[in-house]
Amino acid sequence: MPEVMLDGRPIPYRLVRNPRSRHVRMTLTPEGLRVSAPSRLPDCEVHRAVASKERWLLRHADKLVPATPAPLVDGMALPFLDGEVELGVCSGPRASASFTPQEGRLRVRTPDPLRVRELVERAYRDAAREWFRLQCEDHARAIGARPASIGIRDPRTRWGSCSSSGAVSFSWRLLMAPSRVAEYVVVHELAHLVHLDHSPEFWGVVASVRPGHRHDSAWLADHGAWLWRSPGAGPRPSGP
Ligand SMILES: [Zn+2]
Repeated sequence: MPEVMLDGRPIPYRLVRNPRSRHVRMTLTPEGLRVSAPSRLPDCEVHRAVASKERWLLRHADKLVPATPAPLVDGMALPFLDGEVELGVCSGPRASASFTPQEGRLRVRTPDPLRVRELVERAYRDAAREWFRLQCEDHARAIGARPASIGIRDPRTRWGSCSSSGAVSFSWRLLMAPSRVAEYVVVHELAHLVHLDHSPEFWGVVASVRPGHRHDSAWLADHGAWLWRSPGAGPRPSGP
């Protein structure tokens, strides 16, 4: 793996060649720094481009140490809202997953042990689609607004979003946060359907439904890095 030096510390990055890309682009993933570059750009040029982005790298320094999440293995406890589910892994000819959170179980079957994380994430995404749909229904009346559509994503910089056309989206990773925190993000995005800004009126709507919303956003600010590295980053931190 190539490395770039930052403050005397080697930061490894994963280089991906992309024939359609015209620039060197850096993104943060749960596995660390990923660099995509045009196919024909020599390695040394790519390296120089990465090294020249020192300010960007320093700003994200706390996330740059590649997280080495523990491999997801049979019998492991994975965070799910306020509780946990037990991961079951077995080999089988075709990749599949069955997620029954109410029974505390996530069963994955795959011919390739390296695909376990991908299948687990897919199962969480599917569960998130249903959970956020119900949450939006629950809170829509209190807020007086209904989203045009609900998407499930894995955005790099935020946990939820709301567009001017009324589409809201949420990160599937919120299903590993305490339910009050995930619900707060739902309320936050639905409140944007009423006020598409962070004005005092917007916060008034949020507070009318979630008087303790500051604790919820504080949890995300303090433990966002853990969410990024989960599942496999150990038990869910508690508080604030
Ligand atoms: Zn907002």
